[in-house]
Amino acid sequence: MITPPTVSTGAHVTEPPTAEAIAALDAADPLRAVRDRFTLPDGVIYLDGNSLGALPTATAARVATVLHDEWGTGLIRSWNSADWIGAPQRVGAKIAQLVGAAPHEVIAADSTSVNLYKLIVAALTAQPSRTVVLSEPGNFPTDLYMIESAMQAVGGGHRLVLAPRDEIAARIDDDTALVLLTHVHYKTAELHDMAALTAAAHARGALILWDLSHSVGAVPLDLRGCGADLAVGCGYKFLNGGPGAPAFLFVAERHHNTLASPLGGWMGHARPFAFVDHYEPAPGVARFLCGTPPIVAFAALESGVDLHLEMDMQVIAQKSRALAALFIDLVAAHCAPYGLTLVGPPRGAPRGSHVSFRHPEGYAIMQALIARGVIGDFRAPDILRFGLTPLYLRYADIAQAVSILETVLRTEAWRAPEYQVRQAVT
Ligand SMILES: *Cc1c(COP(=O)(O)O)cnc(C)c1O
Repeated sequence: MITPPTVSTGAHVTEPPTAEAIAALDAADPLRAVRDRFTLPDGVIYLDGNSLGALPTATAARVATVLHDEWGTGLIRSWNSADWIGAPQRVGAKIAQLVGAAPHEVIAADSTSVNLYKLIVAALTAQPSRTVVLSEPGNFPTDLYMIESAMQAVGGGHRLVLAPRDEIAARIDDDTALVLLTHVHYKTAELHDMAALTAAAHARGALILWDLSHSVGAVPLDLRGCGADLAVGCGYKFLNGGPGAPAFLFVAERHHNTLASPLGGWMGHARPFAFVDHYEPAPGVARFLCGTPPIVAFAALESGVDLHLEMDMQVIAQKSRALAALFIDLVAAHCAPYGLTLVGPPRGAPRGSHVSFRHPEGYAIMQALIARGVIGDFRAPDILRFGLTPLYLRYADIAQAVSILETVLRTEAWRAPEYQVRQAVT
């Protein structure tokens, strides 16, 4: 019987699996039929589901229903009749199932950046005697920028401390107001120990905010079990919610009536349609809503989330690990002479659902790959990042992608001038 690539240490395997063994992995894949639930272009191996998840086939019809029936015919009545007004809570409750939260602890709203801002300000304001926000260097840029903005908004006196990941727990002290970490690192796929770091923060009386942008839909999550205080995450990556999909935020129930949003918009008011002159926060997580929800975008997000609710996260995570192990083995076997360095966890170690390699010509190599239908992305200064989405990737896709990568490296196809031109979005 063929088993998925086994979990081992970082040492690379000298004998990569044969084409027959890879075909057998696909035949035995419990998720193989799920690929048919997505609309994917021919001739593309899509290794970018961690940046923009692919289109679930059902989404086009869902969005069309919102446009034609709910908007076109229902018009403003649909705020009630189609429960547009309940979309942030309804979709939030569904996302709660994917992150291990209670339904009333999550809302879908705004962007991840804006949600970070709201929660950071709320956390700092709630603990005026503590002055430090602790994060790590190389965290996703918007997380660090939003810490800076939030510190300015609360009126100075705070400082941001960036500690390398193995020193974070030790750096939490009685002056730490908030620890803000991205659970799965966007470049390296390294995984923080959410339970241990949350406990370390609580031991010193600090709050912790987890950014789940590269985690939700990719790895099993248990915010409640870990005792997390706050979290945010992204709708357009592994949740397949569409470009610019609404994001989500989580506030643990115990903080519901003590944390305040700095953006007191009317949708977060206790009685938005009373139209009173003074802001009064809604009870619970709804106070972190701000303005009117984007309903067309919500339809696409809800469709992506619904698809995930049919899946078993453990099965997704198991296939993700197997895809990563295969990718790493095949690169080790076929691309060793060309100067690619695996970044992040070694084969078999806990990781998120992408694999990254460093190469000085990473940008041009990725452009050459994209031109050959292998779509991954480049992260400055030198990282080739390949998202591994178990719902629609086959083991054979990984083998073909590495074979094309090997050709690009061996022939130095990346040297062509058109691959050197930097585009606005990498
Ligand atoms: C993708 C991502 C974001 C995105 O933020 P937006 O506001 O949607 O642009 C934020 N944080 C992390 C860690 C991400 O990976």
